Amino acid sequence: MIDTHCHLCDRRFDKDRVHVLDRARHSGVTHLIEIAYAPEIVPRAHDLAREHANVYLAVGVHPGESGRVGDDYLAALRDHARHPRVVAIGETGLDFYRDHAPRADQERWFRAQVRLADELGLPVVIHQRSALEETLAILETMRPAAGGVLHCFDDGPAAVERAAAIGFKLGIGGVLTYGHAPLEEAVRTAPAEMLVLETDAPYLEPEPRSLRRNEPGLLARIVPRLAELRGWTAADVDRITTANARDLFRAPPGGPA
Ligand SMILES: [Zn+2]
Repeated sequence: MIDTHCHLCDRRFDKDRVHVLDRARHSGVTHLIEIAYAPEIVPRAHDLAREHANVYLAVGVHPGESGRVGDDYLAALRDHARHPRVVAIGETGLDFYRDHAPRADQERWFRAQVRLADELGLPVVIHQRSALEETLAILETMRPAAGGVLHCFDDGPAAVERAAAIGFKLGIGGVLTYGHAPLEEAVRTAPAEMLVLETDAPYLEPEPRSLRRNEPGLLARIVPRLAELRGWTAADVDRITTANARDLFRAPPGGPA
């Protein structure tokens, strides 16, 4: 399996990062994509990728960080994104739930990152919270050429249809175990090729939420629920979601196609 969205550079992994990566491997997670969402995380993420051959990167400016990152960072971001292990731009998008940054800054950085992704031929990793309509409207206008993923997807079938129309995939993680009926219906009926797995570790631990920290190995808790909703075996979940992730992020993660 591929964990398409995690934050192993988070301080909460400082004491046991290597063990977390070991546990991921043992539970069948072969590759992960570390989301380096702020300037100071990028060097640490590059270090992580250097130390672990199965770690790939997305680089970007999270909407919550967009108020404090100057426009001059775009040139540096472009350089970071040209690194061979970088497979996506992001996470970017709009977050009107926390409002950590002015909406104008969020939108300016969102649009700049979609343009950068197009320039480099990379997909975009989208974060949105309480801003689905505004986020989809921008994506529908800009139509990122290499597509992308709606990370932490938590909406219903109508949003799936709009995501499908612009060639986007859906990041499915711990929220699937929280019992949200519209999400379950969306996941049950979405085209199979749209589904990719993610943890968003250390956030959003799947039920029973016993560890108070999520980690890539806990994808194993999501697989049975996804299999049940789709009528798939666990092996189907692995095979289909891995193929989808490789399709979205090009040949890596997982070596040449
Ligand atoms: Zn994230």
